[in-house]
Amino acid sequence: MSDALWGIKRQKPIRVCAKSQKPPHERASMSNTDIANPTEEHAMLREMVRDWTKEYVEPQAHQHDKEEKFNLPLLRSMGELGLLGISAPEEYGGAGMDAVACTIVHEELSASDPGFTLAYLAHSMLFVNNLAYNGTEEQKQRILPKVCSGEWIGAMAMSEPDAGTDVLGLTTSAVQQDDGTWVLNGRKMWITNGCIDEDGTPADVVWVYARTGEDERGRVQLSTFLVEAGMPGYSVGQKIYDKTGMRASNTAELVFDDCVVPAANLVGEVGGSMRHMMGNLELERLTLAAMSLGIARRSLDEMNRYATDRTSFGSKIRDFGQIQRHIGESFAKYRAMRAYVYDTANNLTIGTAGQRLDSDGVKLFATTAAKEIADAAIQVLGGYGYVGEYHVERLWRDSKLLEIGGGTLESHQKNITRDLFKDGEAINR
Ligand SMILES: Cc1cc2nc3c(=O)[nH]c(=O)nc-3n(C[C@H](O)[C@H](O)[C@H](O)COP(=O)(O)OP(=O)(O)OC[C@H]3O[C@@H](n4cnc5c(N)ncnc54)[C@H](O)[C@@H]3O)c2cc1C
Repeated sequence: MSDALWGIKRQKPIRVCAKSQKPPHERASMSNTDIANPTEEHAMLREMVRDWTKEYVEPQAHQHDKEEKFNLPLLRSMGELGLLGISAPEEYGGAGMDAVACTIVHEELSASDPGFTLAYLAHSMLFVNNLAYNGTEEQKQRILPKVCSGEWIGAMAMSEPDAGTDVLGLTTSAVQQDDGTWVLNGRKMWITNGCIDEDGTPADVVWVYARTGEDERGRVQLSTFLVEAGMPGYSVGQKIYDKTGMRASNTAELVFDDCVVPAANLVGEVGGSMRHMMGNLELERLTLAAMSLGIARRSLDEMNRYATDRTSFGSKIRDFGQIQRHIGESFAKYRAMRAYVYDTANNLTIGTAGQRLDSDGVKLFATTAAKEIADAAIQVLGGYGYVGEYHVERLWRDSKLLEIGGGTLESHQKNITRDLFKDGEAINR
């Protein structure tokens, strides 16, 4: 086992600390046909995260869902493992790993607790990765070590009460003052990690998209700001309760009321949001698909074991053709999901845009497949499948969010059809 990774079998945890991202063409030359574990490093990462999940994530999942509570200490503890900055460069406290590694971590965590995994995704993909690839040098040096260690918890705020899919319809505004500072006004809705506890404590730092005017062609100009806890005018409007699923993650409304943000907290250029937003959305969609894969794998595993244990009419229920249909079709769907998820992951280079066709495609396919497999699992487990102790009803509820968050199914259908209009040859390549 290489020293590069935290070895679960060691006495003392050693951080994930991989080499820099290998470009896809280099990895493709390796003679390894397991696309879910293309290198030894990836296989070790999977083993480590799987073992850690079993020990620390699984035992708390049901209770946190039931109580609608986010396990903040557990998320923070992932900093010691090097997982909070999985894709951030090592020089800022990250692990410098690639899209396949990000996919592995989301899949493994989600097989036990998709709600907790969503909080991890909001922190590590929506905030940390965004900053690592798009922040200024000063921003990266000041903030990345804190979010990679877990000292600070991050969030990303795009959606608003009146604008979700229609990103250019967002109305939160940012106006620059004579002294260079920016004043933000508006509300953000549905923000994962927007508050980090039951007392309404806001996230330590939020990646906020705001409208800063129009360009010379009259198009809406969006700019990105880092809003930090303690900045005047930044607060939590409400923690959103009673969600269908993902109840182990906190979702909040954020309020920016004449919120003063220093000039140094503008990310990139004024009006530059679309450039980095699109690249990061691809990784977000891939990792949401990876979460679906974790849900599917666990659901399949639960239904398969139950079908052996349960007897009815003197036979194991797995001997009944209708149960075989649930198991057989779920297995085939799961394997197809796995192939598409890891094919996309192996071809996605973090920090660049251009993989939208597959990042939309894989999320479109995998999220609904996960929901269907979790549904089949409930059916196979009968009455037991309908109660929390048996996990699959939670996985089913959690899976529904994946058809909405990070882009709705309809937005993926729209994007794919638009991209195939521009480049129909993508089908034949
Ligand atoms: C638990 C949870 C966590 C979330 N976390 C975050 C987060 O951390 N950060 C963040 O910014 N957002 C977050 N979101 C918001 C999420 O990304 C949005 O809910 C999602 O993008 C959809 O936006 P909307 O809810 O405004 O729905 P709308 O955009 O209003 O859509 C409503 C319906 O209309 C359809 N529709 C809209 N436009 C079109 C069109 N052009 N063609 C066809 N159909 C269309 C949609 O597909 C949908 O079916 C979260 C949401 C939830 C529920």
